[in-house]
Amino acid sequence: MRKAKRTDGGPAITRAQLRSELDELLKRAGISPKTVKMTFSAVLDHQHKHNRRTYARLSLNKRHIEVARAILRLDAPHRLGILAHEVGHLYCDATIGRKHTEPQTDRCAKESTGVLISYDRSYGRHPIDKSISGLQVGTDLTVPHHLGRRRAASVIESEIEAATGRRITKRKKSKGRR
Ligand SMILES: [Zn+2]
Repeated sequence: MRKAKRTDGGPAITRAQLRSELDELLKRAGISPKTVKMTFSAVLDHQHKHNRRTYARLSLNKRHIEVARAILRLDAPHRLGILAHEVGHLYCDATIGRKHTEPQTDRCAKESTGVLISYDRSYGRHPIDKSISGLQVGTDLTVPHHLGRRRAASVIESEIEAATGRRITKRKKSKGRR
């Protein structure tokens, strides 16, 4: 197995920053941020120590997202993937209903927030749902409208590269001028 890359050793963002990132995704999905609670959880902090994949959980009944404090040190693509996934659950709940699957959740996340979710397999299996392997990584496919189509395509490509660590852009031979 590949040695796991540390993804949560970076500088911490604040709770307010995390909340505003969540709010942005909720608004994109047409969900009022006021209707969704987000709190830190000592239980999740404890669980995170035993399973490094544990960062967040959601109660659909209470519309309550609980997070482990370690999420504040997680790098942006992983953080985005986790938040978009939880928003995907809320969006699926409103469209498909309470009984939706994890793959449906990721499709809901993409449809409602424009975030494409892939999985970082250096993380192990989900502690409860063994069908899930890895931790969410998000690629934001929404780009500002003022960018032209070619520029937008290159922004999306570089975001996918940043999220996956894989180079997908083809290098053109330089003709000496740009
Ligand atoms: Zn889920």
